Amino acid sequence: MPGRTYGEIEGYPLGSTFVDRDELAGSGVHRPTQAGICGGKDGAESVVVSGGYPDDEDFGDELIYTGHGGWDRSKRKQVSDQELKSGNAGLARSAVEGYPVRVIRGAGGDDSYSPASGLRYDGLYRVVDFWQDTRDKRRIFRFRLVAQDKLDLDQTARERPGPASRRATTVQRIVRSTAKAQRVKLIHRDKCQVCGLAIGTPTGSYSEGAHIQALGRPHNGPDEESNILCLCPNHHVMFDTGAIYISDAWDVCDSATDERIGKLKLHGKHSINREYVEYHRRHHALSRTQGA
Ligand SMILES: [Zn+2]
Repeated sequence: MPGRTYGEIEGYPLGSTFVDRDELAGSGVHRPTQAGICGGKDGAESVVVSGGYPDDEDFGDELIYTGHGGWDRSKRKQVSDQELKSGNAGLARSAVEGYPVRVIRGAGGDDSYSPASGLRYDGLYRVVDFWQDTRDKRRIFRFRLVAQDKLDLDQTARERPGPASRRATTVQRIVRSTAKAQRVKLIHRDKCQVCGLAIGTPTGSYSEGAHIQALGRPHNGPDEESNILCLCPNHHVMFDTGAIYISDAWDVCDSATDERIGKLKLHGKHSINREYVEYHRRHHALSRTQGA
């Protein structure tokens, strides 16, 4: 293991600038001199955003970042499928673990947010979501990164007390606790729609409302009951990371093998829209056999 450093690098505060990739690599803020992602299957510590991929989108405190591999620079074409390996696997792992990722912007990226020349360290972000998409009929991975400060703000806005260190890691759960999600959880009496388990806690039973087509860009799934599942935390993570998906016949399937592992538990008062289930399958299930 290359001894990763997550978080800030001493001596290089927010806004630190670098003339080129060599100077940047020497600082330790982003160690590779060419790769856009510094990471492996244990996690990713930093990314450089410099406009290399047409699918990258920069909104300042939020980024849609394209994984690496298969992009032919001269043809400006995706020539092979991206794999969930090396840096791509690292960003996916950081999403699951909640590791902070250093974001460095280089000249050549979005005009509004990129430096005119050289590179600039723009602070810590979290990978809040990842999914697959297609470009030129090839598979690409996309990652949504949100500035850590913004996550803390969102949390404060929802007036949830709690230790500061837990804020960013719990934010996704809080965002999902909408009134609609509460209603779905009530209908199912907190029983997971995959395994049937309602976790008992000293404060009552517990479940999570999982949006099927995720909220927020670029998915823009609606906050509607027909787009929400009631899941236990384990099946929520499995669903969000694409480890499981739901078929049109409401079978719950293992993405790695396409094997049916159970039947989604339905309730007469809670109808689910197949369109959202299909969207989840297409973007999150890493199955090889289903059609792209
Ligand atoms: Zn479950």
